[in-house]
Amino acid sequence: MQNDEIVEKLNELNKTSSLLDIPETERKGMIQKVSDFANRFISGLSTVRGFFDKDAGPVGIDNQPHQLSEIIDLYQREVAGTGINAAAGTHLGYIPGGGVFTAALADFMAAVTNPYAGVYYASPGAVAIENEAINWLKSVFSYPKSSVGNLTSGGSVSTLIAFTAARDKHQVKNERIPKHVVYLSDQVHHSTQKALRIIGLEDVVIRHVALDDYFRMKPDSLESIIQKDIAEGLIPFLVVATAGTTDTGAVDPLNEIADVAEKYKMWFHVDAAYGGFFILTSKKDLFAGIERTDSIIVDPHKSMFLPYGLGAVLIKDKKAALHSNHYETNYMQDAAGDDLVKSPSNLSPELTRHFRGLRLWLPLQIHGIEPFITCLEEKLLLVKYFRNRLADLGFCLGPEPDLSVSYFWYPFETDADEKNKKLMDEIHADGDVFLSSSIINNRFVIRIAILSFRTKKEIVDRAVAMIERCLAKVK
Ligand SMILES: *Cc1c(COP(=O)(O)O)cnc(C)c1O
Repeated sequence: MQNDEIVEKLNELNKTSSLLDIPETERKGMIQKVSDFANRFISGLSTVRGFFDKDAGPVGIDNQPHQLSEIIDLYQREVAGTGINAAAGTHLGYIPGGGVFTAALADFMAAVTNPYAGVYYASPGAVAIENEAINWLKSVFSYPKSSVGNLTSGGSVSTLIAFTAARDKHQVKNERIPKHVVYLSDQVHHSTQKALRIIGLEDVVIRHVALDDYFRMKPDSLESIIQKDIAEGLIPFLVVATAGTTDTGAVDPLNEIADVAEKYKMWFHVDAAYGGFFILTSKKDLFAGIERTDSIIVDPHKSMFLPYGLGAVLIKDKKAALHSNHYETNYMQDAAGDDLVKSPSNLSPELTRHFRGLRLWLPLQIHGIEPFITCLEEKLLLVKYFRNRLADLGFCLGPEPDLSVSYFWYPFETDADEKNKKLMDEIHADGDVFLSSSIINNRFVIRIAILSFRTKKEIVDRAVAMIERCLAKVK
């Protein structure tokens, strides 16, 4: 092909290929439409239902162009209008967070500018922001400057990174695997066992440590199991504590567990995915000892109310963290001179990644820290308020939680489990406020997790009114 022919063909192709690069006037209109949608959505949150118990309609791709307004309508109907409304303060199930608006602005800016946030050389500015976010987290948890960290998609991936470092530091491989023991509580999040499996440690020995009446791990029980295991020729390897359990809102006694972990030279990991940022509140003392752990996971998409897709991991032993994640290759040679831990890709399975540091950094720059802390204090009080109101209605309550997750059940005289299940079904069918259930001490219970920054007293009152309404139907 001659060049004049090529140029003619290129001009022809450009008519369609340039459609992806939208001109400014059209951009303005599109941004306006999305902005109108966002404003309508957010303004409606105070009155909208918490749960739409229905399936989504078709959202298939037909490879044809459509109008943005048509697609926004589809999104409103099939996404915003089905399932749990996780942006609303009426989401009181699982572990809610809400999704602060300024993080959405950060995501927009990050996606528009598309910096390469995995490698320092490629975007020193974006990676500096990622690393300042990690530095900030280190200061929150009193971790040393020499520790390392990574922003991940969430707690599950953070756990993978932490456990892999622990595995490699302790050389838990091959025939050594079934000799190594992991200690955890019955209240540990299932992502813990899942991570062990994914990283090839399915065959480690798992011990469940006894819990006190508040679902906190008993350090003396931990130590006596360890001694028994050592006597049997096993090797204590990893202890997993939780700072804020998913079902019961409990914080394990970190200082005492740290004593045991140090004594037996184990890796001490704390899962603070849900509870971590309560360290900034009046509950600070419960977190004493967290600075003595070897690794921490925490989810800013939970107790910092950011939109889903932001977790973090901190690891003290830089060498262990690098060992499993750092790899040199020819096509990365231009980036090789960097200080290794400067680049997020050396501390994570990811190479190319979303510039997620901005969605933590920008909200902190705009709001400062105070509103975040105040929201958390508010949630602690709201749980107390909710419990008092339910007690007045004759409900039984789980023990006073350390943080903002609690549970309850109605003491029906007969078939209590079945009737509480029915009560849960009625609550889901009502849908004004969303709650979830669990099984605790072999009893069917209904959980309340108050964490969304948008959950206020009025919504807790709505929850109580709904529970009363549904109870009347079951009684
Ligand atoms: C949510 C949660 C996890 C898992 O985190 P994801 O971000 O959902 O992957 C782990 N541990 C605890 C205690 C949690 O609440």
